[in-house]
Amino acid sequence: MFKAKAYSAASATSPLVSSTIPRRDTTERDVQIEILFCGVCHSDLHHARDEWHSIMPTVYPCVPGHEIVGRVTKVGSAVTKFKPGDLAGVGCLVDSDHTCPNCQDGLEQLCPNQTLTYGSPDKHLGGVTYGGYSDSIVVDERFVLRVPANLDLAGVAPLLCAGITTYSPMRRWGDLAGKKVGVVGLGGLGHMGVKFAHAFGAHVVVFTTSPNKKEDALRLGADEVIISTSAEDMKKHAGTFNFILDTIAADHDINAYITMLGRDGNITLVGAPEKPLSVSAFALLFGRRSLSGSIIGGIAETQEMLDFCGSHNIVSDVEVIPIQRINEAYERLLKSDVKYRFSIDMASLKSE
Ligand code: NAP
Ligand code: ZN
Repeated sequence: MFKAKAYSAASATSPLVSSTIPRRDTTERDVQIEILFCGVCHSDLHHARDEWHSIMPTVYPCVPGHEIVGRVTKVGSAVTKFKPGDLAGVGCLVDSDHTCPNCQDGLEQLCPNQTLTYGSPDKHLGGVTYGGYSDSIVVDERFVLRVPANLDLAGVAPLLCAGITTYSPMRRWGDLAGKKVGVVGLGGLGHMGVKFAHAFGAHVVVFTTSPNKKEDALRLGADEVIISTSAEDMKKHAGTFNFILDTIAADHDINAYITMLGRDGNITLVGAPEKPLSVSAFALLFGRRSLSGSIIGGIAETQEMLDFCGSHNIVSDVEVIPIQRINEAYERLLKSDVKYRFSIDMASLKSE
């Protein structure tokens, strides 16, 4: 075991502060990574503030961070995919049972015995797992991703969660080329959704509550932008969408988006608001519409997404921050004031 530097929260109402955490020594299959950048996902904030208490209560102290990119510093004797010096990525998962039907189908994100990167029971050290707001992490090589060498690393980090979470449901929905696709909320997930939908050849429409994001939405690949607070704008598009991805992190009227769908249209929820949403049966019945959920993606699909980003030159638009500004970043997330993902430069942790 060795000590790593990290930023942790001691309770739901405490700020994140500098601390040290234990990391295990590499076992046979492990890869030790020096973390270079870690994206700031809204899930980190939900977790640090125990907003998902009823589903997965947070154990304190907690160290968030599941959009990790770095360089391999050490590998176990049985590791075949990585060697010291290689770039490596880690997303929301660090282990699963490898035997359940979901794992066998490459859907580790649905494994009932998965280990999340932070906040899950730690099988090696006891306690809970600690995430990427840290200078290093040790992960089973089966959960470590290869990172294309041609991409900017600060912008790669958010692909490990925001990227795969938007890529996976869009791929699952089939060929989106020529389809009318909506992305609700232009934040970390939303802006990646726009980039992927555009790359897949869809007619992309952004729904935003922030009129000042309109130009950015168009630059990111949207064909149209709807200001969702304008009833008039919304009415014009009612019943016309094939697919909508809802990324909103807070309570909202989902029926307003369900009724945007055409016949057999689907809206997939990836946003995870604290409180249940109220769904109108009639909004679904008329039009034979469907509502689904989706959570990150499996390891093979995450690698496919990273390779796709490498060949299409796709990265997240990031504002790079030192770790010392993480609490301020959380406040800005709550105000929808981020363009479009914070990425922590972990070199800033060296001075702690
Ligand atoms: P984010 O960067 O904060 O973006 C959320 C966006 O939603 C905001 O930028 C804003 O966009 C819109 N929004 C926020 N509050 C709103 C409100 N009250 N009404 C309407 N729109 C609102 O967050 P994120 O990191 O993209 O994460 C979004 C959600 O997805 C979070 O709940 C997170 O936990 C969840 N998540 C789920 C998965 C999964 O696997 N399913 C993975 C990662 C994250 P506009 O300014 O454009 O309106
Ligand atoms: Zn996330």
